[in-house]
Amino acid sequence: MRAPSNLTFDRRDFLRGATALTAAGVSGLATAQQPGQPNADNAVSLSQLHAPTEAPEKTPGPFEAPDQRIGFAVVGLGHLTLNQILPAMAKSKYCKPVALVSGSPEKARKMAAQYGIRPEAIYDYASYDRLARNPEVKVIYIVLPNSMHAEFVIRGARAGKHILCEKPMATSAADCERMIAACKAADVKLMIAYRQQYEPMNRALGKMIREGKLGSLRTIIASNTQDQGDPTQWRQNRKLGGGGCLPDVGIYCLNAARFLSGEEPTEVFGATWQPTDDPRFKEVEASCTFTLRFPSGLLATCSSGYAGHRSQFLRLECADGWAELNPAFGYTGLKLRSSRLVDGHETIMEPKIEEQDQFALEMDHMALCVMQNTNPHTPGEEGLHDQRLVEAIYESARTGRSVKVPPPPAPTRGPELPPKS
Ligand code: NAD
Repeated sequence: MRAPSNLTFDRRDFLRGATALTAAGVSGLATAQQPGQPNADNAVSLSQLHAPTEAPEKTPGPFEAPDQRIGFAVVGLGHLTLNQILPAMAKSKYCKPVALVSGSPEKARKMAAQYGIRPEAIYDYASYDRLARNPEVKVIYIVLPNSMHAEFVIRGARAGKHILCEKPMATSAADCERMIAACKAADVKLMIAYRQQYEPMNRALGKMIREGKLGSLRTIIASNTQDQGDPTQWRQNRKLGGGGCLPDVGIYCLNAARFLSGEEPTEVFGATWQPTDDPRFKEVEASCTFTLRFPSGLLATCSSGYAGHRSQFLRLECADGWAELNPAFGYTGLKLRSSRLVDGHETIMEPKIEEQDQFALEMDHMALCVMQNTNPHTPGEEGLHDQRLVEAIYESARTGRSVKVPPPPAPTRGPELPPKS
């Protein structure tokens, strides 16, 4: 039943393996291989066909065999789950879907059939707690409207499962604190799905800044705007969304400013616009612009919008050059460029970094944390601090004054990759 680890592990192999295993009732981490040792022994590298002057070739993998993969229950079968998360399972190295939680039995049945999930492993929101009795499920991935994250994270932790929770973590800092406490009490891991922190171009950009390749970071400018359609969707309901564009798409700019600078803002200033003649914005803002002041003097100016054509970019201006992701924040098509003087000429560089599925990378990180018993790189504390900043930005927008924000009591991020065992 082992996957041919020297070959690309395609969707069909994955589904065939997962289906056969679930039919046989095989559970995760059951056999001789030690937990915490992803299948590095099975790595195969092929000879290089091209000269060393060409980009090196890399054989994907090693991929974990289906019976060794970490089983995920996915909660909420909406756009993100169907369009990104479930398809990304087939591109992951260490994960497999083994259970679904949905309010729609018919949709769940159809998705379970597509992904080789047993009908007995379909739950609804009332029977969700019965996941505790399903040993195949090691991780629960919460993909529900923002205000529901807290309840389902807390119930999932009480069921004894590790939790991966979509961004924004919740709709209040108090809820974030309850979620962190529940996961600590149950001794399970809590990771917030900040996919951009696992994405190779963002990582290359962060490395460039940390290594001082462009000199000191002076200014960050970022924008994430999209044009919302359906006025009845939960994103435009204040209670369900926790706000409008700021917690939904502005959070990418906010989080990027924090992880790329490696600093925490001490003061924020925010302004929102909520038109009175647009049915989409009866309850939430249509745009939010905010400035973050960091201890080094760095300023980040970010904007987010729900009423303008898609625009997504991030630019870091440094003493000796600049770097940008343009577009930034999307699932695909990111472009990294940087510019500085080379031999007296302003020179733009565009490294060709291979695009990878951000959801597969993020889920694999969670799976490795479980296998190796390591803290996630983006744990609950990372989501809590973003939520505190979101609340401060809204307070500033309400009062017209800047708001001071105390730094988090401890670093909010775990290691980028768990150490190899
Ligand atoms: P969606 O509306 O497409 O799906 C939400 C799911 O929740 C649906 O299946 C819906 O039936 C279910 N649901 C249960 N109770 C509900 C209720 N009271 N009201 C509305 N829906 C209810 O949303 P989505 O785009 O899949 O977003 C889900 C989560 O994922 C959100 O937290 C969102 O912020 C996050 N998200 C993250 C990314 C990313 O790139 N990481 C992208 C999109 C969404």
